[in-house]
Amino acid sequence: MKVVIKIGTSTLTHATGQLNIRRIELLVKVMSDLKNAGHSLVLVSSGAIGMGVGKLSLGARPSDMPTKQAAAAVGQCELMYIYDKLFSDYHHVVAQILLTGDDLKDDSRRRNFENTMSRLLELGTLPIINENDTIATEEIAVGDNDRLGAIVACAIGAELLILLSDIDGLYTADPHTDPSARLISRVEAITPEIQALAGGKGSGLAVGGMGTKLKAAQMTEAHGIDMIIANGQKPELLYDIMDGKDVGTRFIGKR
Ligand code: GLU
Repeated sequence: MKVVIKIGTSTLTHATGQLNIRRIELLVKVMSDLKNAGHSLVLVSSGAIGMGVGKLSLGARPSDMPTKQAAAAVGQCELMYIYDKLFSDYHHVVAQILLTGDDLKDDSRRRNFENTMSRLLELGTLPIINENDTIATEEIAVGDNDRLGAIVACAIGAELLILLSDIDGLYTADPHTDPSARLISRVEAITPEIQALAGGKGSGLAVGGMGTKLKAAQMTEAHGIDMIIANGQKPELLYDIMDGKDVGTRFIGKR
């Protein structure tokens, strides 16, 4: 199965911005095993800015563009160094692709991206994609990696997009404040009622929230691709997802 997996900053790093070593090691192990089982995987990884904040000891996510972009330049390098090191332990080859929104709007650049991706997958590599944060200012940026994950899934004709987050999925109410909140396991259509369930943004170093995830789901739904929101704190859930078990919230693509 061809699957795009998106990992958020809150899954990869502690609140300090330092790497969550146990988490990333487990994630790499599970993904390596799924590749060994024959699946084609693409990783959309956040964490460049978060890790840059940690490495530069900035303390908090910067609000000005040059510092954000400097942090991304430092953090992206560190992120790929770690992925390369960990995936190499399982004999998998990683490839880095950095995109901006503009790249994907331009027909010939988009075609180049699609051709390169299909060749990378034929070669058995694991493409790791992030926004090119060092040059993406607001006007040209995709903006968040939930959306980037959906764009990539549509562009490469993936069968499934998995968004690994710090929450189990979409709830009927905010589970942090409402004890009666219930996890919704299946969404057949993104109705206004479903949209009303998307609260505010995620906090801390992360960019997305439920709102960006529902926007991503609208995109995959229209392209006939299923999307799952699952808890990235438990990377073994990826095994259950690939075994077809019910995990998190599944948004059904229109077929
Ligand atoms: N590209 C950003 C980073 O690597 C993350 C964007 C997002 O998580 O939505 O820090």
